[in-house]
Amino acid sequence: MQPIHFQSKEPAPYRDLCTDCGISRSSEPKRCGQACQFIEPKYEHLEIQVHGRNRQVHESDEIFFGPYQNMYQAAMQKPVAGAQWTGITTSLAKKLLHHQLVDGVLTMGQDANDAWRPVPILITQEEDIALARGMKMGYAPLLALLDNAKELGLKKLAVIGIPCQIYALRALEQELGFEKIYVIGTPCSDNTTTENFHEFLSIIDPEPKSITYLEFKANYHVELRYQNGKKKEIPFLMLPLSKLRPDFFPTTCRTCVDYTNSLADITIGYMGGNGEQWVIVRNDRGQELLSLLDGEIKLQAPIDSGKRMGAVKGFMKNTELAAGGLPLRQMPDWLRPIVGWLMPKVGPKGIEFARARVEMKAIETALILRQQMPKKMKHMVPHHIWLLLEKYGITPNPEELPK
Ligand SMILES: Cc1cc2nc3c(=O)[nH]c(=O)nc-3n(C[C@H](O)[C@H](O)[C@H](O)COP(=O)(O)OP(=O)(O)OC[C@H]3O[C@@H](n4cnc5c(N)ncnc54)[C@H](O)[C@@H]3O)c2cc1C
Ligand code: SF4
Ligand code: SF4
Repeated sequence: MQPIHFQSKEPAPYRDLCTDCGISRSSEPKRCGQACQFIEPKYEHLEIQVHGRNRQVHESDEIFFGPYQNMYQAAMQKPVAGAQWTGITTSLAKKLLHHQLVDGVLTMGQDANDAWRPVPILITQEEDIALARGMKMGYAPLLALLDNAKELGLKKLAVIGIPCQIYALRALEQELGFEKIYVIGTPCSDNTTTENFHEFLSIIDPEPKSITYLEFKANYHVELRYQNGKKKEIPFLMLPLSKLRPDFFPTTCRTCVDYTNSLADITIGYMGGNGEQWVIVRNDRGQELLSLLDGEIKLQAPIDSGKRMGAVKGFMKNTELAAGGLPLRQMPDWLRPIVGWLMPKVGPKGIEFARARVEMKAIETALILRQQMPKKMKHMVPHHIWLLLEKYGITPNPEELPK
């Protein structure tokens, strides 16, 4: 069967905080109340439903990354052309279809006229998986295609998604009526609308349309690739981020709390991969998925070095200043290239880099929600996030805790 693309150009029905995961456009839009991570999420309950247990919050990296059995630095032995990194994510989906372990894969394709714009796609043939490769910027109603999967009578499904999509999927999973769903997650942070992303490209490059690839890498650089095959790396510190509008990143993406997609069976990212990919196997189904790539994937223990505290505190200071409407502490221009060169050498690496990013995101969540939507805090900030914030002196006021 030909792939099914999500078609409607209608805007999503209005919701207060919403990343248009697709539920509001589905046959039962009222399920948003139960499914949304921005309304009244139940991470602890869903961790038990999905993994059979909660994350360990003491003396364990699970407080940062959610429940897991194993973590690896990883790469496909033969990188998949057109993939964001080496294509572990889409290779898993391809194997699932090849071995007929699923009838379809629900994931993100791209718009015919704008390769950066995500368009949900339901794929049933392994040769079509190539349509999903690579990162698109923005969000699109992935879960709206669950209705199509049901109508087609698909029983076993794989879903690849970012955390706010996977949260909603898990919250509704038991009533969706599929026999089996394999859930492949990627981490996600600093997402914004596709329109805003185009604006960003035009700030960093005089020829934004020629950029075909962008990635924020663990070596503190952004990698850009161009239509003519050229590549460029810009140190984070040299990015003109101060030119972005204050509302460039939506409140949703500044305040979501599940950076590493803790409700997936397996998470495929790069943060803890020290320049390669980072795989988190969360449960037995995740292990079953990884085994599909036996002989085709290189796996090794992730490295863990450096100290994150200074970088996280610097981020916290700047987030506090920005939340108070004050100008950011900026490094003098002459110093930036030097620090940009130094960071990959002395900054936290591997798992310590991933911990730093998770803590930064937790800090941003607390400070921005407090400033913009304080009433949401008691529902949206789970217990483990407050535990992470303790060492940075951020503690909840009584009205910020659930009753
Ligand atoms: C907006 C965004 C932010 C991210 N931020 C981080 C981060 O901070 N740290 C980190 O470790 N990883 C992050 N990732 C994940 C990372 O970029 C890679 O997608 C991941 O490492 C998989 O690489 P791969 O080569 O295996 O992927 P591929 O085999 O190329 O497959 C990519 C998969 O991602 C899906 N996808 C692409 N764009 C979107 C989108 N906009 N929405 C939903 N699904 C999409 C595709 O459909 C495909 O299934 C982010 C991904 C996105 C989409
Ligand atoms: S469940 Fe999805 S569609 Fe509904 S409000 Fe939340 S993000 Fe938006
Ligand atoms: S940053 Fe968070 S809210 Fe925004 S798209 Fe990614 S997972 Fe969803």
